[in-house]
Amino acid sequence: MSRYKGPKCRLCRREGEKLYLKGARCNSEKCSFNKRNYAPGQHGNARIKISDYGKQLREKQKAKRVYGILERQFKTYVDKALKTRGVTSEVLLKYLESRLDNLVFRSGLAMSRAQARQMIRSGFFEVNGLATNIPSRQIKVGEIIKPINFEKVHLREGFVLPLWIDANVKEKYVKLTGLPKLTDNIENINIQLIIEYYSR
Ligand code: SF4
Repeated sequence: MSRYKGPKCRLCRREGEKLYLKGARCNSEKCSFNKRNYAPGQHGNARIKISDYGKQLREKQKAKRVYGILERQFKTYVDKALKTRGVTSEVLLKYLESRLDNLVFRSGLAMSRAQARQMIRSGFFEVNGLATNIPSRQIKVGEIIKPINFEKVHLREGFVLPLWIDANVKEKYVKLTGLPKLTDNIENINIQLIIEYYSR
């Protein structure tokens, strides 16, 4: 699976907010967004009025960057969500939040989603007792994620466990107990704008 290999801090500057893509550095003084919180490029500091289309595009880009997903896979999630019964934006949120790499990160077992992906690809985790190395694997409610080698996995300091995840810190297992709702306002992303972008 291909992934974005360019400078991550540039993505935060482009979106005009901290996306927390680099683990501990994001909460430290070294975070470059603290020094340059304007878009990259020659006119990055200029005030530009953004159109409705521009807002939809930026929201889509932000979601892709936060979850570390490239356009093709993101579009696949949107297409599936559009075909599924129910509230489309809530279904899309479910696809994004149920990814294995996202759950490993949210449970505090990795410093960032990028690190979670790396660990999963290296075979650090099993799901329901079976080893897996697919970061995009969709986890169903009730499934249990566990590190295979406890010594290599450390809990991230200061993380907040969401209500829809149950985790046993001592045994380091993670269980998806439910799914987030749009009102949970995850990552400050307006999913409805993303659906509007793809429904044009
Ligand atoms: Fe974004 Fe700051 Fe983290 Fe860089 S260090 S990825 S600018 S939050």
